[in-house]
Amino acid sequence: MTRLKSGLAFHCHHDILLEYVYDYDERLNFIKTEKRFVERELRKTLFVLIPEKLLPNTSQKAAYIKTGAAYYEAKVDLYEITNDKTWAAYNKAEAVYNKAEAVYKTYIDVQALHKQVCHPNCPWDGKTIFSKGTSLEVLNNE
Ligand SMILES: [Zn+2]
Repeated sequence: MTRLKSGLAFHCHHDILLEYVYDYDERLNFIKTEKRFVERELRKTLFVLIPEKLLPNTSQKAAYIKTGAAYYEAKVDLYEITNDKTWAAYNKAEAVYNKAEAVYKTYIDVQALHKQVCHPNCPWDGKTIFSKGTSLEVLNNE
């Protein structure tokens, strides 16, 4: 069994700058096969796992990763939830994760890290990576 590539990443989704990714390869494969064709190259280029050594190693980080894994494991069965008890457990896992994420992100200089790790011409405008278009050519500008 191969080890999951998990961790904090930039641009896992086009409208979220930084988030925890449970399975990098699965998401990359999804982008390659399911996203609109014209968006795929840009999404693949900007989606990057942040090297562990660049992240502050605090107890809040450990809590964030632990709750992130629990949330994503609960999410796997999201569409098969048939009872309120399981649904409540899922919602709780999500809330705990969101709180741990918010706390840990206060320890990270997200803008500086983004500038250091991401493409120098990243088109992220605070809301989307598609601010200048969807093709890879937007990275060539300027
Ligand atoms: Zn970026």
